[in-house]
Amino acid sequence: MKLLIMGPPGAGKGTQSEKIIEDYNLISISTGDMFRESYRKQESLGLLAMEFIRDGLLVSDEITNEIIRRRLFAKNAEKDFLLDGYPRTLNQAYDLDNILEIMDSKLDAAIKILLDDEVIIGRMSGRRVCSICGATFHIQHKPSKKDKICDQCGGVLYQREDDKEESVLNRLSIYHEKTKPLVAYYKERNILFEVNGNQAFDDVYQEVKAVIEAVR
Ligand code: ADP
Ligand code: ADP
Ligand code: ZN
Repeated sequence: MKLLIMGPPGAGKGTQSEKIIEDYNLISISTGDMFRESYRKQESLGLLAMEFIRDGLLVSDEITNEIIRRRLFAKNAEKDFLLDGYPRTLNQAYDLDNILEIMDSKLDAAIKILLDDEVIIGRMSGRRVCSICGATFHIQHKPSKKDKICDQCGGVLYQREDDKEESVLNRLSIYHEKTKPLVAYYKERNILFEVNGNQAFDDVYQEVKAVIEAVR
């Protein structure tokens, strides 16, 4: 099974992905996580990408396609996966289709999490991320048991630089301009499914699960 989860920044893609990959034994491929990981290792690709990310801009299609191709064409690359935060532009979607064609495969579903901009701001300002394992928390909606410490690995939690208000606003407008056209693209292919992201974690997940069960 090959799935794609999309939606505005802060919609809950990462949070829902954590559950999906556990229940369905998939690998999550998140370009955002891959860029942050590469930056942490101080690789040139990560350093380059962080220049865009900091300001809330999209990383160029060239860099993004490069990191994705490396991942999907790696030795022992997985047959089943969940894409989180990729593709984000039509060019990336075309490139993904080419990659999948070479793999003699296709996407089973593009799940879009719907959420209004007003709610998004609150989600982003309270988001905290583990500096070691990348697990996501929220200061109000999903606090860690110990203040600023990851429940899963004991790592220190931090606020992403691009979650500060100014870059959040940038990211939202870029989402509306560049990523929204993908909705029509996947709708035409009859693989678009929308879920309501403005509900409790588990209720969102029930809707997500219903989609996966239907395409499985
Ligand atoms: P969020 O889940 O908050 O939307 P991500 O962790 O997915 O954020 O991505 C963080 C940042 O990394 C994005 O704002 C963007 O700068 C960059 N990024 C991630 N994925 C892509 C992509 N597919 N194309 C271009 N830039 C990307
Ligand atoms: P995305 O990957 O789409 O950017 P995240 O999964 O990182 O979004 O979620 C953004 C923030 O909102 C995180 O702090 C997360 O804990 C919180 N969050 C996610 N889903 C919900 C929900 N259903 N209700 C309340 N808060 C949520
Ligand atoms: Zn952790």
